[in-house]
Amino acid sequence: MRLFSATIATETNTFSPLPTSVDAYKEGVYLRPGEHPAEAPLMCTAPLWVARRHAAAEGFTLIEGSCFAASPAGTTNRADYEAMRDEILGQVKAALPLDGVLLGLHGAMVAHGYDDVEGDVIERVRALVGPGCVIGVELDPHCHLTLKRVQLSDIIILYKEFPHTDVVDRAEDLLRLVLATIRKQIKPVMSLYDCRQIGSYPTTLPLMRGFVDRMMAMEGKGGVLSISIGHCFPYADVPELTGRILVVADGDKQLADKLATEIGEEFVGMRGRTAPNYYDIDGGITAALAANAHPVVMADPADNAGGGAPSDNTSILRRLIERDVQEAALGPIWDPIAVRLCFDAGIGATFPLRFGGKIGPASGAPVDATVTVTGLKRDCWQSFGPTQSPLGDCAAIKTGGVEIVLISNRTQALGLELFRNVGIEPTERKMVVVKSTNHFMAAFGPIAKQVLYLDSDGPIPRDYRRIPYTKIQRPVWPLDENTSPGLIF
Ligand SMILES: [Zn+2]
Repeated sequence: MRLFSATIATETNTFSPLPTSVDAYKEGVYLRPGEHPAEAPLMCTAPLWVARRHAAAEGFTLIEGSCFAASPAGTTNRADYEAMRDEILGQVKAALPLDGVLLGLHGAMVAHGYDDVEGDVIERVRALVGPGCVIGVELDPHCHLTLKRVQLSDIIILYKEFPHTDVVDRAEDLLRLVLATIRKQIKPVMSLYDCRQIGSYPTTLPLMRGFVDRMMAMEGKGGVLSISIGHCFPYADVPELTGRILVVADGDKQLADKLATEIGEEFVGMRGRTAPNYYDIDGGITAALAANAHPVVMADPADNAGGGAPSDNTSILRRLIERDVQEAALGPIWDPIAVRLCFDAGIGATFPLRFGGKIGPASGAPVDATVTVTGLKRDCWQSFGPTQSPLGDCAAIKTGGVEIVLISNRTQALGLELFRNVGIEPTERKMVVVKSTNHFMAAFGPIAKQVLYLDSDGPIPRDYRRIPYTKIQRPVWPLDENTSPGLIF
C-alpha cells in the first residue's frame, strides 16, 4: 500500500495590505521531502506527521512530499503558488501508483488567478492519481468548503475546535478513514449543506460547545463516519464564502443528505448567537478596571494576525497609555524595525521610540513614547497545543504602567511564552491584552479570571456588513436578511 502526503497552506485575507510571496512560506513552513521535524506537526502538516507515525504498524509506505505554509496575509503571488503546486504535483507523479493521498491544506488560500487554490490542487492531484485512488483532505474550519473540493475528493475532515486544538486528532480520523476505504472496509459518500451565512463560532462558548459535542457523539455510529462544520473565513472576496456542513457516511447517501440537512438547519437557527459580546475600547478597559480578580484577559480580534491583519494597530494601546492604566501587558505588536531599535538600545535603556501603526490605514497612527527596554530575546517561540509558532526576535518595553511585547515574525497571541520569553509574567498582571480572535483561549483562558472581547478599529471588523465584497454569492446572511440555505451536494 502506497500513500503520499503534502501540504500547501495559508489563510488568505484578500483585503490585507500585506502581499504573500514565497518568502512568507520560507519564513513559515518550507520543507522538502524528509525534512519535516519528528517532534510535532507544523501549520497544516498533521496528515503527513500522523501518517509517518502509523506507516510501519499499518503496513503502508509513506511517500513524503513538500510542505509549504505561510502565516495568514494577503493574496499569494501567482508564480510562487504555481511553482510550489507544481513541485508537489511532480512528486505525486513520481510516486505513482498510489493507493491514497493525504493533503494537509488550510482551505482559505487564494492566489492571484485562483480563488479556490485547494480546489485547483485537488483537481490536479485527481487527474494524476486517477479515480481509484483515495484522496483525503484535512482543512481548517475557517475555509471555503467549495463544491469542487467535495466533488473531487473522497473524504474531507475539518478541525472541530476553535481554538484549533484538535488538528492532530482530526488527522488521525482522516488517516483511519482513508486506510479503511483503501481496504474496502467502508465506502465514504459525502453530502454538503450550504447555510448561506457568515459568522464566528468559538467552541469555547456554550452554544457551539454543545453543538460540536453532539456532532462528535454521532460519529462512528449508524453509518456516520464524520461530521464537519465549515465556519467560513470572512475576510476573503471569493464566491463560495459561506458556512457549510459536510457529512461523510458509509455508503448511504440518503443518510448523509438527511443528516447534513438536519445539522445545517440547526446551524442556520443559531445565527447571531454564536459570537461573544464585544465591548468598545473604553468600555472594555473600564470593565477590566472594575474587576476584582486578575488577570483580566482582553482580546483584540480586529487586529488578529491569524486573520491576515498586520497586528500593529495601536488603538487599544493608546487608550491604556492615555488612561494611565497600571499593571497592564499587551502583545503582540508586529514591528521588526522597533525590535531592532530596542536591541540596539539594550536592556534597561530608556529612549524615545516610535512603534506600531505602520502597515496600513487600519493600523492607526504610530505610538511615540519614552520607553524602557525590559526584555530582549532572539528567536523566540510560543506554543499552540502540540505545535510551536515562531515569534522571531522579541522585545518587551514599558511606558507608564503598560508593558508591550514587540515581535518580528508576525503572528497572533497563542501561548503564554509570548510574554514570558521577555520577562513578563501574565498571571501577575491586572490586564493582559492579546491580539487574537479566539486561539488565545487555549493558553490564556485557563489563567484568566475574566475574558473580555473588544472590537477595535483594526482591519478585520466583526461586522461583516462593513467588508467590501464584490465576488461573494448573494444572498448571504448578515449581508442579506432573506437567504435560501439548502443541500448542494
Ligand atoms: Zn482557523
